[in-house]
Amino acid sequence: RGQRAHLLQLADAGTPRYVYHLPTVRARARALAAIKPIDQRYYAIKANSHPAILQLLEAEGFGLECVSHGELKHVFQHLPELSPKRVLFTPSFCPRSDYEAAFALGVTVTVDNVEALQRWPDLFRNRELWLRVDLGRGEGHHAKVRTGGKDSKFGLPIARVDEFVRAATDLGSRVVGLHAHLGSGVETAQHWRLMCDELAGFARRIGSVHTIDIGGGLPIPYSAEDEPFDLDAWAEGLAEVKALHPAFRLAIEPGRYLVAESGVLLSHATQVVEKDGVRRVGLDAGMNTLMRPALYDAWHDIENLSRQGGYAEAAFDVVGPICESSDVFGKRRKLPVSTAPDDVMLIADAGAYGYVMSNTYNQRAMPREDVIE
Ligand code: PLP
Repeated sequence: RGQRAHLLQLADAGTPRYVYHLPTVRARARALAAIKPIDQRYYAIKANSHPAILQLLEAEGFGLECVSHGELKHVFQHLPELSPKRVLFTPSFCPRSDYEAAFALGVTVTVDNVEALQRWPDLFRNRELWLRVDLGRGEGHHAKVRTGGKDSKFGLPIARVDEFVRAATDLGSRVVGLHAHLGSGVETAQHWRLMCDELAGFARRIGSVHTIDIGGGLPIPYSAEDEPFDLDAWAEGLAEVKALHPAFRLAIEPGRYLVAESGVLLSHATQVVEKDGVRRVGLDAGMNTLMRPALYDAWHDIENLSRQGGYAEAAFDVVGPICESSDVFGKRRKLPVSTAPDDVMLIADAGAYGYVMSNTYNQRAMPREDVIE
């Protein structure tokens, strides 16, 4: 709200446009950096890979977590001085060439299946590896973001940990990191405490592990009904579990928590239409610009930035220009009844999994991006 005039000005320069407020990213980074039991912090760049955000988080002491060769290249392009020791590579079903590139760069490589070691023994010989395990359950805000359990493609099932360690040892390699990430937007602070405890048990059994990585997944309050994440309870749980397992360094790799609330998506209303009693406002942004509502039924607050304060309201469905019935940002949203074409519309909390997932479906243009320092 404090940036309204500035945002209206940016919208004038063309929409759809993402805008990221860097002081918000910095504040979230510092809140996490203040949590004592955490020894290493990585930012999952898949959430938002804008160079200014990567540079800010690197300067705040975060390493970077990447999932593809493309993300690795992007990181070193924008942070050429970055030590590869501060970069994690956590791919899923990637081609051999991605692993080759990661080893050549000298970043820390995480593997999550035995078959990769068996198929490419030359590649994984004499390495220090991190192992991603599936603790047998998934959690998170939507079925499509749960990354553990039998139905999920991620992670080595715990029943195969010994087999993995034997295969690695046979290659002269050592498992030095143990990782799990069971989902995104998890609301129970105890989730990470439990995960850490379980991972520490396996780490002890493996013997060579020095770091336990409890992933990301921290939620943010997307709607007024959502409770803000209790960071203090989270930190307390981690302190307790760290005290039980002091031998291991503790790492985290959040994405959403650091960037979601820093970002808004600006668009212009294109048409306002009434059909069978339903009012719809159309935007020049669509599901190609921000996929989360179509992909995960995700909630984002929507505001008419041109008409703030004291307007009589009515319920509108907020839709985009894409030829799919899933191209809906929100149903029955309260907006000024006078909402009209050319009004500037704001979609809130769009800093994570927004621009990075955007595409040109229907030959629509990609959105633009700006940062507010
Ligand atoms: N780490 C891994 C391995 C992931 O798969 C993800 C998300 O997909 C993250 C971290 C970041 O998750 P979030 O943005 O929920 O913190």
